[in-house]
Amino acid sequence: MGLTKIELIGFKSFADKEVIEFEKGVTAIVGPNGCGKSNVSDAVRWVIGETSAKQMRGSSMKDVIFNGTETRKSQSFCEVSLFFDNKERQFPNLNFDEVIFTRKLYASGESCYFINREKAKLRDIINNFHDVGISKDGYSIIGQGKVSDIMSSKPEDRRAIFEEAVGIAKSKKEKNDAQKSLEKSRAGIREHGIRVSEIEKRVAPLAAAASKTQEHDKLAAELKKHDINTYIISYEGASGKRDAINQKIAVIDQELGELTTAQNENQAKYNQYSAEINNIDGEIAS
Ligand code: ATP
Ligand code: MG
Repeated sequence: MGLTKIELIGFKSFADKEVIEFEKGVTAIVGPNGCGKSNVSDAVRWVIGETSAKQMRGSSMKDVIFNGTETRKSQSFCEVSLFFDNKERQFPNLNFDEVIFTRKLYASGESCYFINREKAKLRDIINNFHDVGISKDGYSIIGQGKVSDIMSSKPEDRRAIFEEAVGIAKSKKEKNDAQKSLEKSRAGIREHGIRVSEIEKRVAPLAAAASKTQEHDKLAAELKKHDINTYIISYEGASGKRDAINQKIAVIDQELGELTTAQNENQAKYNQYSAEINNIDGEIAS
């Protein structure tokens, strides 16, 4: 990791802006008890997302803000920035030659994170460090007291600690995650297999029903054809009968016309004879 610089403002014992630069190789910070050595590693842990006040050796997270001395008043906020050389893109998702992670906390309790001075979410910070195998719970930062823990733990536990420190734990976690998702996929495949066999069981009755439906459709089409034929035939029969009746009506009409003419003629003759009878009666009377 190319940690090149830490900048602290108002963090714990660092009341003023303090810059600690790291050269290549090993850097050691020495000083008397209580001078603030552990506060430096606390600062690193804090920026990479520590949210436990206890881990920060305080009772509340606000305890990381410089709380004043007899001669200096307390600060209203604290800010820590970690500078990384990213020319080789150790942080693959951050396309910058230098990456600066910053965390800021106000006495009001408001807390914010920045990546290259741009506001970011805690999750972004955690994810970026996770990409390079560093987490607040890992052994990339070994606090005071942890060394004796390591020495007194069982060989298997010690192995786990060293694996975590060299980043194998990250690969192991990825392998575990991959195995879990593989198992999930297998379970999914099994479930689908069960569903396929259930569906297959229903295929035969459905095929029988489908052929019945086809037969029904065929018969219904035939029935429709016959219905139409029946209608045409009965229509043709009815129109034949209608023509015959019309012919009869025409004959009757003609007879009726002839009878009417005859009746008219007879009426005229009757009238004529009546007139003649009247004349004769007149002559007889005279
Ligand atoms: P040791 O060698 O004993 O491990 P150290 O160098 O690691 O000591 P730290 O634990 O880093 O020392 O620093 C402790 C000092 O930091 C104490 O003097 C404590 O008063 C100071 N300190 C911690 N929090 C604050 C704060 N919020 N404001 C001011 N000073 C603080
Ligand atoms: Mg210490």
